[in-house]
Amino acid sequence: MEHVVRVPPAPTPILGGALEVHGIPAWVDNVVWLIVSKATGECAAVDGPDAEATLRYVEAQGYRLTAILNTHTHGDHVGINRDLARRGLLDGLRVFGARQRAGEIPGLTDPLDDGDRFALFGHEVQVMLTEGHIDGHLSYVLGDALFCGDTLFAAGCGYLFDGPPAKMLDSLTRLAALPDETRVFCAHEYTEDNLRFAHSVEPENQALANRIRETWAIRARGESTLPSTIGLERATNPFLRSHSAELIRHVSEAMGRPLATRLDVFAATRALKDRKDYKALGDSTLPL
Ligand code: ZN
Ligand code: FE
Repeated sequence: MEHVVRVPPAPTPILGGALEVHGIPAWVDNVVWLIVSKATGECAAVDGPDAEATLRYVEAQGYRLTAILNTHTHGDHVGINRDLARRGLLDGLRVFGARQRAGEIPGLTDPLDDGDRFALFGHEVQVMLTEGHIDGHLSYVLGDALFCGDTLFAAGCGYLFDGPPAKMLDSLTRLAALPDETRVFCAHEYTEDNLRFAHSVEPENQALANRIRETWAIRARGESTLPSTIGLERATNPFLRSHSAELIRHVSEAMGRPLATRLDVFAATRALKDRKDYKALGDSTLPL
């Protein structure tokens, strides 16, 4: 099946240009983020459904893959570890992942806990335990870059497989507290679908309307909407906006009950999206 992104994203310089983040489309809507040290040619892959696209890219660019950073243990994220192991290429790589899921992360060399720090190509990476999608989900902060797997998406958040909603809300609240300019490198290109839902609960949000217009233009060219920024997410992502009076009114109406607390609003917003009613709304309802 063809990838939803036909034009890979341009490399993003981070840490004032000390490192670059390259996006490699894999499978149907996954994006493997490759953190590249331009000085040495070393690179680290953040997750991946398999190794195919990443190995091809690394070879074409003349880079050297030396590390894997795993956010969580779903197959489309640790598949790259398994595939590298099958090809005999996992030995010798540093593999970073959650200590509490150590048994499910092939080749794990550096088991991590919340708050840990480690050096990658001479720069400090900060580890955050961001559960809610799945237990043991990690996010990585590297200067002005955030790698958040399936926790925070552009205009959305991951399914609550392990939950509960309180854990996810706590994770998202901590990610949203990062500086506005932080680049958000999430693991899937889901932005258009997420924005359809966002608009259904906040139709008067002008920042959201602008984002929808920009996103539709980007996607019409087959390009990726990633990375996003924390500032843009705070302004438009319904799962970071449980305080919005407009959102509360719409979600409460749709769920047929009053919503008392921020957690109540968040959980109901997630439940409403899971109902998928918004998918029936056509583009004519959007501010295009
Ligand atoms: Zn996942
Ligand atoms: Fe995933």
